[in-house]
Amino acid sequence: MKRGIAVSPGVAIGTAYVIHEIFVNPDRKSLADSEVTAELANYETSRDKAGAELRALERKVAAQVGPEEAAIFAVHRAILRDSAFTSKIRTWVCEERMSAAAALSRLLDEYTVILTKNKDAYLQERLNDIRDVVMRLSRHLSDALKPEFGPDLIKGPLIVIANELVPSQAVVLGEMEVHGIVTQRGSQTSHAAIVARSRGIPAVSGIKGVVKKIKTGDTVIVDGRDGHIEIRPNSETITAYKKLVREFVDLKDALATNRDHPALTEDGTEIRLQANINSVADATAAGSMGATGVGLYRTEYLYLTHSDVPDEDEQYENYRQIVAASPNHNVTIRTLDIGGDKTVAYLGSEHTEANPFMGWRSIRLSFQHPEFFNTQIRAIIRAASEFPEGTVRLMFPMVTTVEEIRRLRSMVRRAYKELNARGIKTKEVPIGMMVEVPAAAVSIHTMVDLVDFVSIGSNDLVQYLMAADRDNPKVAHLCQPLAPPVLIVLKMVIEACNDANVPVTVCGEMAGTPRAFVILLGMGLRRFSMSPAFVPSIKRLASVISVDEAEQIVASVMKFKTTAQVKKFLARAIEQIAPDLKILSSN
Ligand code: PEP
Ligand code: MG
Repeated sequence: MKRGIAVSPGVAIGTAYVIHEIFVNPDRKSLADSEVTAELANYETSRDKAGAELRALERKVAAQVGPEEAAIFAVHRAILRDSAFTSKIRTWVCEERMSAAAALSRLLDEYTVILTKNKDAYLQERLNDIRDVVMRLSRHLSDALKPEFGPDLIKGPLIVIANELVPSQAVVLGEMEVHGIVTQRGSQTSHAAIVARSRGIPAVSGIKGVVKKIKTGDTVIVDGRDGHIEIRPNSETITAYKKLVREFVDLKDALATNRDHPALTEDGTEIRLQANINSVADATAAGSMGATGVGLYRTEYLYLTHSDVPDEDEQYENYRQIVAASPNHNVTIRTLDIGGDKTVAYLGSEHTEANPFMGWRSIRLSFQHPEFFNTQIRAIIRAASEFPEGTVRLMFPMVTTVEEIRRLRSMVRRAYKELNARGIKTKEVPIGMMVEVPAAAVSIHTMVDLVDFVSIGSNDLVQYLMAADRDNPKVAHLCQPLAPPVLIVLKMVIEACNDANVPVTVCGEMAGTPRAFVILLGMGLRRFSMSPAFVPSIKRLASVISVDEAEQIVASVMKFKTTAQVKKFLARAIEQIAPDLKILSSN
């Protein structure tokens, strides 16, 4: 049994499919002079093959999944064509007599050293892209060609085991019968975690040495409730987990039937369950899971998959497609939230900041790029104006002061003027702020009248309140949304918004967890936005709890002094109210 971080709930049992990194032992022997030309030719052929493969993948994914998901392969082709990349390989082969595989390995090492220095999750995702390209190239270079990672390779309920899932593997996973994912590296925001959650696949990350300890073909159990796995379990454990897996699958099937039911509490109070999305495919998933809208569209994914700034038309087209694909065309579009753990090179986000989460991120960075920021605001207003008024909303992240809200409003006014001057007819778009900075939370009463809606970004709010990095497993015991100080602040913000009659949503991860849902409902929250896969279970939980009950639970919970007490109380309460949902709870 090995413990890690629970990144996607549920339990799974299956056959391990271990994705090994290619460069365990590249051949380091020097080439003879006579071998250099052939080695370069071999490299060029491999590059051509990899390029053709990427083009084919791009077309296939664009047709079957969507153009946004396919964009990653264009990024990979750009890496493949990158002149610095290729010239280093050529130089090392020609001048240092390295084999192309060894040169690729060295290049990857160099990039790894440079990019991991920044401890920057999104930069590391870019490193994943480079690694992905290098692996693809090396497959073509190798004499003993490993088969392409793909659906024909191995069948049956699979548990994918990897150091870290690279983006192209994650896309292919959609075609395989993957029941669980285990990775050595990665956190809640890593690609594997996002993919697993959005597909409802149980996943555990952060288990050291797992790629070496597990062999393809081993039986593995993934327990995404508390974040542990069982390797080659004994027959008793297998029997126990088979029962749990059946319950999990039955529960998912049963919950799927509530897709078209309205979201009501047991006493008939209407609530809104919306989805957090990153792409058009997620927007479609939101509808199929029964979400009634999108409470958070993270636009940064559009930028992260572009090698330079998407222009107004490209952005407008993306937002229009997102809204068209979303349930009821109801979408809250958030402006770029780059910086902190996510960086985009062309916006010059500062990689060397000592405290990136407290630094130049989000609207702070956007304010410094007014032309770029205005372009995004114009594109959002243009897209919003094509749908019924009020269905598309514009939201700003990381708001900290009243002055910022005034400045944002004036930028929005300027965007309207510019669009109208171009003869574009516009509709009124509601303007909202995210509450994720403690300063905004404690002074919410001074801000709430300046916005049309509020959305609480609890992922950031919790990390700032507890001074505990949301992506650092070493302080995960502190970064807890159910910590008593967090609950005090959440209650205060929700009540302030309700008193001012300003719609308030929680769009952090906690909104999709049964325990936090009950608390938030009892605090007066009626709008929740979560990963699409969590909508059915929260809808079911809502249907068996009354607002009165939730309020009583809040009254009891607010008296506790420790997170452990809160969790224990809530776990018991939910077990009584909805025993069938226990399998979906995680620590
Ligand atoms: C949040 O901080 O809770 C949030 C929803 O935004 P993100 O996770 O994108 O920072
Ligand atoms: Mg945030």
